[in-house]
Amino acid sequence: MRKIEHIGIAVADLKGANKLYEKLLGVAPYKQEHVESENVITSFFRVGPNKIELVSGNGEDAITKFIEKRGEGIHHIAFDVPDIKAEMNRLAAEGFRLLSDEPKQGADNKLVCFVHPKSCNGVLIELCQEIRNEDV
Ligand code: ZN
Repeated sequence: MRKIEHIGIAVADLKGANKLYEKLLGVAPYKQEHVESENVITSFFRVGPNKIELVSGNGEDAITKFIEKRGEGIHHIAFDVPDIKAEMNRLAAEGFRLLSDEPKQGADNKLVCFVHPKSCNGVLIELCQEIRNEDV
């Protein structure tokens, strides 16, 4: 894994959270996106070399369930990987529990796969690989 790609924060009210984080970080979100594979809406902020993703649910989705169970807060840490399939195979062989067998289309032009928090001391880990031309 090359670096932390972004940190994902679960929020109940995306509009309100956008305003708050804009005030906090001093920048407006550069992108808002509906991620169909997860049925969530995301909003991305760039802070220097780092990114923050606000994620909000649509009713029937993992974010809504997460907030019901644990409240708002840090939801996942995403790592940038050069080859997501190779990384998935490596982690599966190491005994990590992946939440999907194949990478999914994620937000912000990425292929993504999540690693179960039970495999990672309670932290949901997201692998993400930039979608290159040869992947589509
Ligand atoms: Zn994410």
